[in-house]
Amino acid sequence: MNPPLDRLRDAMAQKGVDGLLVSDPTNIAWLTGFTGTFARVIVTQSDTLFVTDSRYTIQAEEQVSGFPLESFASPVNGDTFVGEQARKMGVSQLGFEAATTTYAAYENMAAKMSHVTLTPAPDLFGQLRMIKTPEEVATIRKACAIADACFGHLTRLIRPGLTEYDLQIELEFYLRRAGAGIAFEPIVVSGERSARPHGKASDKPLETGDFLTMDFGANVDGYNSDLTRTVVVGEATDRHREIYGQVLLAEMAAIDFMKPGVKASEVDALARRILDEKGLAQYFGHGLGHGLGRVVHDTGRMNATSEDVLAPGQIWTVEPGVYIPGFGGVRIEDDVVVTETGVDILTASPKELLVLPAR
Ligand code: ZN
Ligand code: ZN
Repeated sequence: MNPPLDRLRDAMAQKGVDGLLVSDPTNIAWLTGFTGTFARVIVTQSDTLFVTDSRYTIQAEEQVSGFPLESFASPVNGDTFVGEQARKMGVSQLGFEAATTTYAAYENMAAKMSHVTLTPAPDLFGQLRMIKTPEEVATIRKACAIADACFGHLTRLIRPGLTEYDLQIELEFYLRRAGAGIAFEPIVVSGERSARPHGKASDKPLETGDFLTMDFGANVDGYNSDLTRTVVVGEATDRHREIYGQVLLAEMAAIDFMKPGVKASEVDALARRILDEKGLAQYFGHGLGHGLGRVVHDTGRMNATSEDVLAPGQIWTVEPGVYIPGFGGVRIEDDVVVTETGVDILTASPKELLVLPAR
């Protein structure tokens, strides 16, 4: 696969963008490897320039190769500096990232960059970032393995009386100790609270008969995993088993159905049909999945209105859920990479209904 810069230039040519100012930190990390919070990259078909400020000069020299570097320091204004650099490069029209630039930031740029005309550029990175290189897939695989190990650790701790907070802290500590970052604030919800798809952990103790949902991920070298498992505390009833079993059927059928050329919206519809066999689709309010990469909810939506089509190298979450107010909820989430013929499942935590503590 071509390096990111070549792929970006192809996309710029296709969309008629001659000069591009990249300002979004995630796009900059993808393009150059730089992980600081402030940088600008100017890209034309023949030229590039990486600009940062004095806080990051040393870091940029370490992390960025293949781009000429310039940095500025107080009292120089960043926008003025970038505008001058663009002029030196012969850029007259500079496309800025309209999707991630605030209106105030645009006004500041427009005031300071007197020699260039700023034009809103379409998002060129989203589609590019969706297709992962083998190295990116390998990194996400590592992040998935750490999340799996963390889940295994949690299953040995879960018992009535432990609070959601206790589990959340244990979870975060485990990920850190494994050398990973925390992909997002983990969701730990139990009992009736598990009917909140994105609920926050509380001081509620786990009780016998609770569904307990844990949704978390590890961050490895800037790439994330995203794993959800629901277990039952103490003792499971037939109702627990029926709901859980149907969510699991929907999840596995969706994963089975995924391959290049399939529309994301069709995968979402299939999962809903299977949930509806037991009248449960009405309790499934969110999309089936999302793209996963440098951001947890990366480009790519698997829902009814999505226009996305599966292609090799994409990484998706598959996460059907059923949330019944006053009772509780179940979500099962795995991460998969689309291959030439289907998908490869990157997360490997057990999916049969676990009733904990194990007897
Ligand atoms: Zn998740
Ligand atoms: Zn997710």
